Amino acid sequence: MDSDIKQLLELQDIDLRIKALEKEKEEIPKQIQTLEEEKNSLLSKLNNIEKSLKQLELTKKEKELDIYQQENQIKKIEENLNYVKTNEEYKALLREKAHAEERIMEIEDEILKIMEEIENLSKEKEELQASIDKEMEKYDQLINGKKERKQQIEQELEKLKSDREQLAKDIKPSLLNKYERIKEKRGTAIAVVNSDTCTGCFLVIPPRLYSSLVKGEKLLSCPNCGRFLVYKSE
Ligand SMILES: [Zn+2]
Repeated sequence: MDSDIKQLLELQDIDLRIKALEKEKEEIPKQIQTLEEEKNSLLSKLNNIEKSLKQLELTKKEKELDIYQQENQIKKIEENLNYVKTNEEYKALLREKAHAEERIMEIEDEILKIMEEIENLSKEKEELQASIDKEMEKYDQLINGKKERKQQIEQELEKLKSDREQLAKDIKPSLLNKYERIKEKRGTAIAVVNSDTCTGCFLVIPPRLYSSLVKGEKLLSCPNCGRFLVYKSE
């Protein structure tokens, strides 16, 4: 293979590698952010359960106090029953007592419901707590892995860029300029082909150009996209 072609291919390999690594590096902060968000949402889920449990306990206490007050009310009514003078008064007090007893039953039902909710939430909390340490550790490991990968990429990029600089020095300036121009315009400067179709623009390469390309004697360009053409049989 022509040494110009070899050098340009090497240059393109480095450029493609640089491009891929830069893209990977670019995506890392967002991946870290997503992991942090998932981690935080797990923590805030636990937090919310704890808040709900506190609120339920508070409501339960209030209801219990309600019952206590109703019971006091009933005691008072019972005392007052000893002092009634009329039948009407007596009936009214009994109605009041029945009403308080009814109210107590209602509140007891409400308390039962609250206790059920507390039980369910407590179970959920226990399950979450049992797994949360492991989950947190998993997220921290993933996040650290991403950070390490970013550093690794930065080192690789530094090495690749210095390799590229070194290689570019050995390439004829006019050729290097052309390479850079096409790369700027097309993304890649070399189309490696193994058939008569340009892999850059999908033009069918004219037969005469193609047979000259297969011989690989000199550097040729695609008449359509301008990329250097390099033939490599599979
Ligand atoms: Zn082409």
